[in-house]
Amino acid sequence: MLKVDGLRAGYGAINILWDLSFEVHEGEVVAILGSNGAGKTTMVRAITGMVRPSAGSVSFNGEDLAKKSSRYILDKGIVQVPEGRQIFTEMTVLENLEMGAFSKSTKAAFTKNLETAYRRFPKLKERAKQAAGTLSGGEQQMLAVARALIGMPKLLILDEPSLGLAPNIVDDILDVASSMARNDGIAVLLVEQDITKALACADRGYVIENGRIALQGSAHELSTNEHVKKAYLGI
Ligand code: ATP
Repeated sequence: MLKVDGLRAGYGAINILWDLSFEVHEGEVVAILGSNGAGKTTMVRAITGMVRPSAGSVSFNGEDLAKKSSRYILDKGIVQVPEGRQIFTEMTVLENLEMGAFSKSTKAAFTKNLETAYRRFPKLKERAKQAAGTLSGGEQQMLAVARALIGMPKLLILDEPSLGLAPNIVDDILDVASSMARNDGIAVLLVEQDITKALACADRGYVIENGRIALQGSAHELSTNEHVKKAYLGI
């Protein structure tokens, strides 16, 4: 589904990503792991058209997206839940969800997709008319994920969903992500610093260090890898 090959990208003269290559298939949860500043968000921006790659390709179902606009990429079904959620705090929960329906097809399917989103996150239905800024951090993250679902993603990118949240809420959100992958065939790219949580949910993963892929493997291989254990898990 998503194939990133030899991707280089950065900001102006500063290169951040060096020859990244990885794949995400339909129905899979793939974790991109790495510490602060490793380049994870830059990689998300390069996939979603917000940072122009200087080399390499990003192909989605066989089409090269490296030079396409963010809007075009969104229309193709690559929807992200950005780091920090970026919900509209003054607007109600329902209005935020409406913002997730950006294309003709997502607008047409809005009512049905809203029901599905409410079924996955019943709290949001209870709070539909409330200003989004009054939600708890966990509920705001749920809202950000629900808004992405309204956009009918084929590939859902979650950028640091665990940031600032209690562990049980992170589990709830990751459960929804893996259920979407397993039951609905959506591919999920999970970008995380919390390696334990990410590997508990993912099928496979890649570890990024200094803008390069340092390690890759199944979730089991990575969680038992000596370097991962020492450098990231403190065991
Ligand atoms: P974090 O988890 O802290 O967000 P990350 O792995 O997502 O880290 P990036 O945000 O991709 O890392 O940052 C990688 C490097 O790129 C960092 O050195 C950062 O300072 C730099 N960087 C990020 N955004 C910009 C920008 N807009 N202009 C210049 N440099 C940037």
